[in-house]
Amino acid sequence: MDEKIIIAIDGPAASGKGTVARKLAKIFNLPHLDSGQLYRHIAYQAIKSEINLNNKSALLELTNKIAFDISEIEDLRNDEISTVASIISQYSEIREQLIEYQRDFASNGAVVDGRDIGTIIFPNADYKFYITASLDQRTERRYLQLKKDSAEIDRNNIKNDINNRDLRDINRKIAPLKKAEDAIEIDTTEMKIDDVIDFIVKYIHKG
Ligand code: C5P
Repeated sequence: MDEKIIIAIDGPAASGKGTVARKLAKIFNLPHLDSGQLYRHIAYQAIKSEINLNNKSALLELTNKIAFDISEIEDLRNDEISTVASIISQYSEIREQLIEYQRDFASNGAVVDGRDIGTIIFPNADYKFYITASLDQRTERRYLQLKKDSAEIDRNNIKNDINNRDLRDINRKIAPLKKAEDAIEIDTTEMKIDDVIDFIVKYIHKG
């Protein structure tokens, strides 16, 4: 496909939306933006600079200074960064500062995943999908992922972290996590990743 399409993928934590987005980007030869990495990057810098998370102006100043060269951002997927990312992402001013970057990134088409992609960032996206799965299934997926790197992983802690983050993301006032009205919802609890991709690719080819 040579068109400059925008595919917006939203969903809760550990729903597999990142994997789906990456695979779709490959298939359709589009760049992929994981918007969660932007929030994680700010979180990482805030932790490193020991900025108090209530200090909005310091966080904003930090966001202003950060150049979002995401190719340089390493893996920021640990629990502390996840939690801090979901706390700082409640500030509307921080979110606003990231809008232009995301829209510029997709100016020649892109697959973008996050929480507010189909609702706020690209309300006119060509295709919108909302990827979800049960909390237990998402916990299991994250558990298997983390177990590769560490033996000391506790399922209950993972479940609590995911649940708390979802609650914060769903209940915040600004750009909460929700399915865009015109998004296709895919519950992947009982699906394999390849089946999810198959479904989406067929849907897009149908136009
Ligand atoms: O997608 P990921 O789990 O990496 O996102 C980390 C956190 O960043 C989320 O829990 C959410 O609070 C925030 N986020 C957001 N809007 C996005 C992407 C991520 O608020 N578009």
